[in-house]
Amino acid sequence: MAENSSTRLRKELRRSGLSSAAIDAAWPAWWNDDLSESPSARAELRFALARKLGLAPKPLLGERVEFVWKDKARFKHLGAETEADQLVLSSFAMSVGRLLTRTVPAGRGFRDIAAEELRSSILRSSQYVDLRTLAGACWGLAVPVVHLRVFPLAVKAMHAMVIADGNIGAIMLGRDASYPAPLAFTLAHEIGHLALGHVRPGNALVDVEDPALANDRDEEEQEADAYALTLLTGSPKPEITTEFEKYNAPTLASAVVRAGAQHRIEPGTLALCIGHLQRNWPVVMSALGFIYPQPVAVWKAVNALARTQIDWSALMEDDRDFVYALLNLDDV
Ligand SMILES: [Zn+2]
Repeated sequence: MAENSSTRLRKELRRSGLSSAAIDAAWPAWWNDDLSESPSARAELRFALARKLGLAPKPLLGERVEFVWKDKARFKHLGAETEADQLVLSSFAMSVGRLLTRTVPAGRGFRDIAAEELRSSILRSSQYVDLRTLAGACWGLAVPVVHLRVFPLAVKAMHAMVIADGNIGAIMLGRDASYPAPLAFTLAHEIGHLALGHVRPGNALVDVEDPALANDRDEEEQEADAYALTLLTGSPKPEITTEFEKYNAPTLASAVVRAGAQHRIEPGTLALCIGHLQRNWPVVMSALGFIYPQPVAVWKAVNALARTQIDWSALMEDDRDFVYALLNLDDV
Protein backbone atom coordinates (compact mmCIF):
# COMPACT_ATOMS: atom_id res chain seq x y z
CA MET A 1 0.00 0.00 0.00
CA ALA A 2 1.23 3.45 -0.81
CA GLU A 3 2.55 5.65 1.93
CA ASN A 4 -0.40 7.52 3.37
CA SER A 5 -0.65 11.21 2.83
CA SER A 6 -0.14 12.23 6.45
CA THR A 7 3.15 10.32 6.61
CA ARG A 8 4.22 12.15 3.49
CA LEU A 9 3.11 15.46 4.97
CA ARG A 10 5.07 14.81 8.13
CA LYS A 11 8.16 14.07 6.06
CA GLU A 12 7.79 17.31 4.15
CA LEU A 13 7.46 19.26 7.39
CA ARG A 14 10.57 17.60 8.77
CA ARG A 15 12.43 18.32 5.54
CA SER A 16 11.63 22.01 5.95
CA GLY A 17 13.61 22.02 9.18
CA LEU A 18 10.79 21.79 11.73
CA SER A 19 11.49 19.52 14.70
CA SER A 20 9.42 16.38 15.27
CA ALA A 21 8.47 17.78 18.67
CA ALA A 22 6.99 20.93 17.11
CA ILE A 23 5.13 18.91 14.48
CA ASP A 24 3.73 16.56 17.15
CA ALA A 25 2.63 19.50 19.31
CA ALA A 26 0.84 21.09 16.35
CA TRP A 27 -0.70 17.85 15.05
CA PRO A 28 -4.41 17.97 16.01
CA ALA A 29 -5.63 15.43 18.54
CA TRP A 30 -8.74 14.71 16.46
CA TRP A 31 -6.73 13.34 13.54
CA ASN A 32 -6.49 9.65 12.82
CA ASP A 33 -5.20 8.02 9.68
CA ASP A 34 -8.63 6.71 8.64
CA LEU A 35 -9.44 10.35 7.93
CA SER A 36 -6.87 10.33 5.11
CA GLU A 37 -9.70 9.22 2.81
CA SER A 38 -11.67 12.39 3.52
CA PRO A 39 -10.60 15.42 1.47
CA SER A 40 -12.23 17.83 3.92
CA ALA A 41 -10.48 16.27 6.93
CA ARG A 42 -7.17 16.33 5.06
CA ALA A 43 -7.68 20.00 4.29
CA GLU A 44 -8.64 20.75 7.88
CA LEU A 45 -5.50 19.02 9.12
CA ARG A 46 -3.37 21.14 6.84
CA PHE A 47 -5.10 24.38 7.78
CA ALA A 48 -4.59 23.60 11.48
CA LEU A 49 -0.89 22.82 11.00
CA ALA A 50 -0.39 25.90 8.85
CA ARG A 51 -2.00 28.18 11.42
CA LYS A 52 0.02 26.84 14.32
CA LEU A 53 3.40 26.57 12.63
CA GLY A 54 3.25 29.74 10.57
CA LEU A 55 2.94 28.05 7.17
CA ALA A 56 1.10 29.13 4.04
CA PRO A 57 -2.09 27.02 3.97
CA LYS A 58 -2.64 26.72 0.22
CA PRO A 59 0.78 25.28 -0.70
CA LEU A 60 0.43 22.88 2.24
CA LEU A 61 -2.69 21.39 0.61
CA GLY A 62 -0.27 20.20 -2.08
CA GLU A 63 2.26 19.08 0.59
CA ARG A 64 4.47 22.09 -0.12
CA VAL A 65 5.89 23.79 2.95
CA GLU A 66 6.14 27.56 2.69
CA PHE A 67 6.70 29.74 5.70
CA VAL A 68 4.48 32.78 6.02
CA TRP A 69 6.60 35.07 8.14
CA LYS A 70 9.53 35.66 5.84
CA ASP A 71 11.98 38.40 6.81
CA LYS A 72 9.88 39.20 9.84
CA ALA A 73 12.48 38.42 12.46
CA ARG A 74 15.80 39.90 13.35
CA PHE A 75 18.38 37.61 14.89
CA LYS A 76 20.86 38.57 17.57
CA HIS A 77 24.14 36.69 17.92
CA LEU A 78 23.34 34.36 15.09
CA GLY A 79 25.45 31.23 15.17
CA ALA A 80 25.48 28.52 12.55
CA GLU A 81 21.79 28.88 11.75
CA THR A 82 21.00 28.64 8.07
CA GLU A 83 18.49 30.75 6.23
CA ALA A 84 16.08 27.82 6.43
CA ASP A 85 16.45 27.71 10.22
CA GLN A 86 15.74 31.43 10.40
CA LEU A 87 12.54 30.98 8.41
CA VAL A 88 11.39 28.24 10.78
CA LEU A 89 12.22 30.30 13.86
CA SER A 90 10.63 33.52 12.68
CA SER A 91 7.41 31.85 11.48
CA PHE A 92 7.11 29.81 14.65
CA ALA A 93 7.75 32.87 16.84
CA MET A 94 5.14 34.93 15.03
CA SER A 95 2.41 32.30 14.97
CA VAL A 96 2.88 31.19 18.59
CA GLY A 97 3.38 34.76 19.82
CA ARG A 98 0.21 35.92 18.10
CA LEU A 99 -1.74 32.99 19.54
CA LEU A 100 -0.56 34.02 23.01
CA THR A 101 -1.49 37.68 22.59
CA ARG A 102 -5.04 36.53 21.87
CA THR A 103 -5.30 35.07 25.38
CA VAL A 104 -4.98 38.35 27.28
CA PRO A 105 -7.33 41.32 27.55
CA ALA A 106 -6.31 44.55 25.83
CA GLY A 107 -3.55 46.23 27.79
CA ARG A 108 -0.81 48.77 27.72
CA GLY A 109 2.31 46.78 26.94
CA PHE A 110 5.82 48.02 27.81
CA ARG A 111 6.33 50.55 25.02
CA ASP A 112 8.06 53.72 26.31
CA ILE A 113 8.02 52.68 29.95
CA ALA A 114 11.40 53.69 31.39
CA ALA A 115 13.33 51.06 33.34
CA GLU A 116 13.47 53.30 36.44
CA GLU A 117 9.71 53.82 36.30
CA LEU A 118 8.99 50.10 36.02
CA ARG A 119 11.47 49.35 38.79
CA SER A 120 9.93 51.78 41.27
CA SER A 121 6.44 50.59 40.46
CA ILE A 122 7.47 46.96 41.20
CA LEU A 123 9.36 47.96 44.36
CA ARG A 124 6.24 49.62 45.75
CA SER A 125 4.80 46.19 46.49
CA SER A 126 7.80 43.83 46.43
CA GLN A 127 11.21 43.63 48.04
CA TYR A 128 13.04 42.98 44.75
CA VAL A 129 12.65 43.12 41.02
CA ASP A 130 13.06 39.42 40.30
CA LEU A 131 11.74 36.78 37.95
CA ARG A 132 8.44 36.45 39.78
CA THR A 133 7.68 40.17 39.92
CA LEU A 134 8.84 40.72 36.33
CA ALA A 135 6.61 37.92 35.03
CA GLY A 136 3.76 39.45 37.06
CA ALA A 137 4.42 42.84 35.45
CA CYS A 138 4.32 41.25 31.98
CA TRP A 139 0.90 39.71 32.49
CA GLY A 140 -0.32 42.86 34.26
CA LEU A 141 0.53 44.91 31.16
CA ALA A 142 -1.03 42.29 28.84
CA VAL A 143 2.27 40.86 27.60
CA PRO A 144 2.16 37.06 27.86
CA VAL A 145 5.40 35.44 29.00
CA VAL A 146 5.95 31.70 28.67
CA HIS A 147 8.79 29.22 28.73
CA LEU A 148 8.74 27.13 25.56
CA ARG A 149 9.32 23.43 26.17
CA VAL A 150 9.01 22.52 22.51
CA PHE A 151 11.45 24.06 20.08
CA PRO A 152 10.80 24.56 16.40
CA LEU A 153 14.27 23.35 15.39
CA ALA A 154 15.78 19.99 16.25
CA VAL A 155 18.80 21.82 17.65
CA LYS A 156 17.56 24.33 20.18
CA ALA A 157 19.23 27.52 18.93
CA MET A 158 17.01 29.96 20.77
CA HIS A 159 17.59 31.82 23.99
CA ALA A 160 14.47 33.95 23.94
CA MET A 161 12.12 35.42 21.36
CA VAL A 162 9.92 38.44 21.53
CA ILE A 163 7.23 39.49 19.08
CA ALA A 164 5.26 42.69 18.73
CA ASP A 165 1.63 42.42 17.72
CA GLY A 166 0.10 45.84 17.45
CA ASN A 167 1.48 47.80 20.37
CA ILE A 168 1.63 44.81 22.65
CA GLY A 169 3.76 41.72 22.38
CA ALA A 170 4.64 38.35 23.78
CA ILE A 171 7.84 36.96 25.26
CA MET A 172 8.89 33.36 24.77
CA LEU A 173 11.80 32.18 26.86
CA GLY A 174 13.87 29.20 25.81
CA ARG A 175 16.90 29.27 28.08
CA ASP A 176 16.91 26.67 30.82
CA ALA A 177 18.01 27.64 34.30
CA SER A 178 18.16 25.96 37.70
CA TYR A 179 18.01 29.29 39.53
CA PRO A 180 15.71 32.25 38.88
CA ALA A 181 18.34 35.01 38.49
CA PRO A 182 19.70 34.09 35.03
CA LEU A 183 16.18 33.90 33.65
CA ALA A 184 15.26 37.18 35.35
CA PHE A 185 18.07 38.84 33.42
CA THR A 186 16.88 37.33 30.13
CA LEU A 187 13.30 38.42 30.80
CA ALA A 188 14.39 41.95 31.77
CA HIS A 189 16.46 42.13 28.56
CA GLU A 190 13.45 41.08 26.43
CA ILE A 191 11.22 43.59 28.23
CA GLY A 192 13.90 46.13 27.30
CA HIS A 193 13.55 45.25 23.61
CA LEU A 194 9.79 45.89 23.82
CA ALA A 195 10.02 49.05 25.93
CA LEU A 196 12.68 50.56 23.67
CA GLY A 197 10.70 49.84 20.51
CA HIS A 198 13.26 47.43 19.05
CA VAL A 199 10.53 45.17 17.75
CA ARG A 200 8.34 46.65 15.04
CA PRO A 201 4.67 45.67 15.10
CA GLY A 202 4.18 42.42 13.21
CA ASN A 203 7.80 41.43 13.71
CA ALA A 204 9.88 39.18 15.92
CA LEU A 205 13.28 39.46 17.51
CA VAL A 206 15.21 36.31 18.35
CA ASP A 207 18.03 36.30 20.87
CA VAL A 208 19.82 33.21 19.70
CA GLU A 209 22.47 33.21 22.42
CA ASP A 210 22.68 34.43 25.96
CA PRO A 211 22.82 38.22 25.57
CA ALA A 212 24.97 38.45 28.70
CA LEU A 213 27.66 36.14 27.32
CA ALA A 214 27.75 37.08 23.65
CA ASN A 215 30.57 39.21 22.37
CA ASP A 216 29.02 40.60 19.21
CA ARG A 217 26.58 42.88 20.97
CA ASP A 218 25.17 45.53 18.69
CA GLU A 219 23.72 48.83 19.87
CA GLU A 220 20.25 47.42 20.51
CA GLU A 221 21.70 44.59 22.54
CA GLN A 222 23.66 47.03 24.67
CA GLU A 223 20.56 49.18 25.14
CA ALA A 224 18.50 46.16 26.17
CA ASP A 225 21.24 45.12 28.61
CA ALA A 226 21.38 48.59 30.14
CA TYR A 227 17.58 48.55 30.44
CA ALA A 228 17.70 45.14 32.13
CA LEU A 229 20.39 46.19 34.59
CA THR A 230 18.55 49.40 35.50
CA LEU A 231 15.33 47.48 35.98
CA LEU A 232 16.96 44.82 38.15
CA THR A 233 19.47 46.92 40.10
CA GLY A 234 18.59 50.60 39.68
CA SER A 235 21.66 51.37 37.58
CA PRO A 236 22.82 50.53 34.06
CA LYS A 237 26.31 50.04 35.52
CA PRO A 238 25.89 48.80 39.06
CA GLU A 239 28.89 49.75 41.13
CA ILE A 240 30.49 46.80 42.76
CA THR A 241 32.73 47.76 45.64
CA THR A 242 36.27 46.50 46.01
CA GLU A 243 35.47 44.39 49.02
CA PHE A 244 34.25 41.85 46.46
CA GLU A 245 37.63 41.67 44.82
CA LYS A 246 38.74 38.53 46.60
CA TYR A 247 36.02 36.01 47.09
CA ASN A 248 35.05 32.41 46.81
CA ALA A 249 31.56 31.04 46.28
CA PRO A 250 30.39 31.04 49.94
CA THR A 251 31.83 34.47 50.81
CA LEU A 252 30.42 35.94 47.62
CA ALA A 253 27.03 34.42 48.44
CA SER A 254 26.90 35.89 51.93
CA ALA A 255 28.14 39.27 50.68
CA VAL A 256 25.45 39.54 48.00
CA VAL A 257 22.73 38.42 50.40
CA ARG A 258 23.71 41.30 52.72
CA ALA A 259 24.30 43.92 50.02
CA GLY A 260 21.24 42.79 48.07
CA ALA A 261 18.89 43.40 50.99
CA GLN A 262 20.44 46.83 51.51
CA HIS A 263 20.20 47.96 47.87
CA ARG A 264 17.05 46.04 47.05
CA ILE A 265 18.76 43.89 44.46
CA GLU A 266 17.79 40.24 44.44
CA PRO A 267 20.98 38.49 45.70
CA GLY A 268 21.31 36.03 42.80
CA THR A 269 20.97 38.93 40.37
CA LEU A 270 23.68 40.85 42.22
CA ALA A 271 25.95 37.82 41.98
CA LEU A 272 25.33 37.68 38.22
CA CYS A 273 26.20 41.38 37.92
CA ILE A 274 29.54 40.60 39.47
CA GLY A 275 30.01 37.73 37.05
CA HIS A 276 29.17 40.05 34.20
CA LEU A 277 31.59 42.76 35.33
CA GLN A 278 34.43 40.53 36.37
CA ARG A 279 33.84 37.60 34.03
CA ASN A 280 34.35 35.25 36.94
CA TRP A 281 31.52 32.95 35.95
CA PRO A 282 32.57 29.67 37.63
CA VAL A 283 32.68 31.22 41.12
CA VAL A 284 29.50 33.20 40.50
CA MET A 285 27.56 30.20 39.21
CA SER A 286 28.65 28.14 42.18
CA ALA A 287 27.69 31.00 44.54
CA LEU A 288 24.10 30.65 43.25
CA GLY A 289 24.07 27.25 44.94
CA PHE A 290 24.68 28.96 48.27
CA ILE A 291 22.17 31.77 47.69
CA TYR A 292 19.17 29.59 46.85
CA PRO A 293 18.03 26.65 48.98
CA GLN A 294 18.14 24.23 46.04
CA PRO A 295 18.18 24.12 42.25
CA VAL A 296 14.71 24.14 40.72
CA ALA A 297 13.19 23.81 37.25
CA VAL A 298 12.59 27.54 36.84
CA TRP A 299 10.50 27.08 33.70
CA LYS A 300 7.78 25.44 35.78
CA ALA A 301 7.23 28.61 37.82
CA VAL A 302 7.00 30.69 34.63
CA ASN A 303 4.47 28.34 33.03
CA ALA A 304 2.49 27.80 36.25
CA LEU A 305 1.84 31.54 36.27
CA ALA A 306 1.05 31.49 32.53
CA ARG A 307 -1.51 28.74 33.10
CA THR A 308 -3.44 30.94 35.52
CA GLN A 309 -3.15 34.10 33.37
CA ILE A 310 -4.04 32.71 29.96
CA ASP A 311 -7.70 33.11 29.07
CA TRP A 312 -8.07 29.60 27.66
CA SER A 313 -11.57 30.33 26.40
CA ALA A 314 -10.07 32.79 23.89
CA LEU A 315 -8.47 29.89 21.98
CA MET A 316 -10.01 27.25 19.76
CA GLU A 317 -9.77 23.79 21.26
CA ASP A 318 -7.12 22.82 18.74
CA ASP A 319 -4.96 25.83 19.61
CA ARG A 320 -5.48 25.23 23.33
CA ASP A 321 -3.96 21.76 22.94
CA PHE A 322 -1.06 23.27 21.04
CA VAL A 323 -0.26 25.93 23.66
CA TYR A 324 -0.70 23.34 26.40
CA ALA A 325 1.86 21.09 24.72
CA LEU A 326 4.31 23.93 24.01
CA LEU A 327 4.27 24.86 27.71
CA ASN A 328 4.36 21.21 28.81
CA LEU A 329 1.59 21.99 31.28
CA ASP A 330 1.11 18.29 32.01
CA ASP A 331 4.37 18.50 33.91
CA VAL A 332 3.78 21.79 35.71
ZN1 LIG B 1 18.55 40.93 22.75
